Amino acid sequence: MWTKQLSFIKPRKSLQDEPEKIEVESESSVKSLPAKHSPPRELTQTGELLLNAFEFAPICTMILTATGDILKANRAFYNTFGYWESNLPDLKFEELVQINDLEIVNEKITQLLTGKETVSTIDMRFRHKQGHLLWTTWAASSNTSGLTNSKHLIFQLQSVAHRKRAEQRIIPSTMHDQLNGLPDRVSLMERLEVAFKISKKQPTKQLAVLYLNYERYELLHSDGANEELNDNLALKISERLESALRSGDTVARLNGDEFAILLENFEDDKELPQIIERLQKQMLQPVPLEDQDIFINLCIGAALWTPDYERPELLLRNANTAFHQAKRMGRGHSEIFNSETHKRASFLQQLENDLKQALERNEFCLYFQPIINLEDSRLSGLEALIRWQHPKLGQISPMEFISIAEEIGLISSIGMWVLRESCRYLNEWHTNHENSAKVWISVNVSGKQLVDVDFPNQVSQVLDESGIAPESLKLEITESSAIKNMDSAENILSQLNQLGVHLSVDDFGTGYSSLSNVHRLPVNSLKIDRSFLMNTQESEENWEIIKTIMNMAQSLGLEVIAEGVETSTQVVRLLTLGCKLGQGYYFAQPLEVAAIDHLFTELQNNSESQTSN
Ligand code: C2E
Ligand code: MG
Ligand code: MG
Repeated sequence: MWTKQLSFIKPRKSLQDEPEKIEVESESSVKSLPAKHSPPRELTQTGELLLNAFEFAPICTMILTATGDILKANRAFYNTFGYWESNLPDLKFEELVQINDLEIVNEKITQLLTGKETVSTIDMRFRHKQGHLLWTTWAASSNTSGLTNSKHLIFQLQSVAHRKRAEQRIIPSTMHDQLNGLPDRVSLMERLEVAFKISKKQPTKQLAVLYLNYERYELLHSDGANEELNDNLALKISERLESALRSGDTVARLNGDEFAILLENFEDDKELPQIIERLQKQMLQPVPLEDQDIFINLCIGAALWTPDYERPELLLRNANTAFHQAKRMGRGHSEIFNSETHKRASFLQQLENDLKQALERNEFCLYFQPIINLEDSRLSGLEALIRWQHPKLGQISPMEFISIAEEIGLISSIGMWVLRESCRYLNEWHTNHENSAKVWISVNVSGKQLVDVDFPNQVSQVLDESGIAPESLKLEITESSAIKNMDSAENILSQLNQLGVHLSVDDFGTGYSSLSNVHRLPVNSLKIDRSFLMNTQESEENWEIIKTIMNMAQSLGLEVIAEGVETSTQVVRLLTLGCKLGQGYYFAQPLEVAAIDHLFTELQNNSESQTSN
């Protein structure tokens, strides 16, 4: 094996003493040639030209024997790696190679020497004399000396930073990775291919691919358009990721906020969850950048190599599938690919295909959940909640399909359908039931709709068409989507505010934001996330949070609605804290249109019988 011989580098005389000898191996043959005449002048000139071309080439170049001895290196090599020519006789090639990369080098060299490849390229780390690693693009070829019939290897190593700079000249700025020095998708795939072959030959050498992206939440102003800040942030994140890994692992930036990591050479499958946990922990502390504290959360999908993998790209694909699964589960989740993930991914793919036709096939319907005034138990509002009546799978929860609709760009049309239908129903109830006059309708709005500049116009049109008063419509936006798109949200929400529509922050308390952040937005109310109440029996801590939210909301003049109210004790406790509105199974589940009609009629009958008594 070539790598076994890497350490066998025989001491040689300093080439500085004999600058004219390029190919040491051919020395003896040259001597044995009949030297009847001195070479013609042109040949000497050509030789000198070639020697200079080698010496002064801007790319690091080395010539090696088939057994790994470095025969010659040029000036660019010495400058880049910090060596002197006099170091060459004692320098072993393996000293330049990162220990984990030795097998990859071996694999590549064997392919060259056996003629399976004529040129081999890969992005690899090489070690500087000072010990630090440099990312380089490595191109190697082999040739056979006609004189001695011995094989040589010609290595050219180029700093990736140079390549990236060259790319920047020819590729529009939006397409290149500003993070010079980090491998990209192509380099990752090259390394993965080699590592894959090694694991195939030696199955104990474990291999895993991680696919991850980060989302940012800063407490102060977010300027999504600041490309430099985004790149600096990505750079800091990549450094944090690297610090949680071993030096042999590869972090590659795929695009924008997406990274992939190749973990090589670990021996125990159980290490993978630990590595993922370590990566997540790295992001617990905010990233300080340009006097801001940026909160980061990572979603990670991972695929662990097993002998039945047939192609390396399947590992990356499965890591990506697991990543999407993790993303659907919510912020900061991670998922390791397994057969269940596969089944789930196929199911979601099916949902995605069917979802595209669901709107035109009239498969959606709306349920409405009462929002109750806790002081007098009166019906105050109704929250519209979408359901999908799938022809084969039955009723599907919005928790399953809203995120898919967001991903595939269907959420705006579905959201508009919900808005139109909700306003139409409310108008019918207002017309048909006297006692419904003050009841409002709450409609959920996706974060994706909040970046659509046409959204306020569309809302205005729906209000005109339906004939309901703007103050009868409450739009619910989730805390995280508003914070994530703060600038655009601020602008769109203030236009909606001017229309007279009421705005509410949904699922409050689950994001990273503070009330002061919410105060920047022109919102009128907060909905405390249902998770605080669903657990309250066990958790006094949650009540403390509710209390804090109540105090702050009151000081900001915001109305509060408690979601997920399930018991009468909760109602009493909420009232003591000053919370006047509640929604939850204690009062009613989400109800069909017919049930709401029935409810209004019943309420009417009750109040009539009370007045007649
Ligand atoms: P949400 O807006 O926070 O809606 C409240 C959810 O809490 C509803 O789930 C409701 O059924 C559930 N819930 C209400 N009371 C209780 C309770 O006492 N205990 C418990 N455990 N749960 C309760 P649902 O209908 O499954 O909706 C889930 C989420 O889907 C909604 O959360 C909302 O974020 C989203 N969603 C629903 N309809 C739409 C829509 O038309 N557009 C958009 N963008 N999202 C929607
Ligand atoms: Mg809601
Ligand atoms: Mg909610």
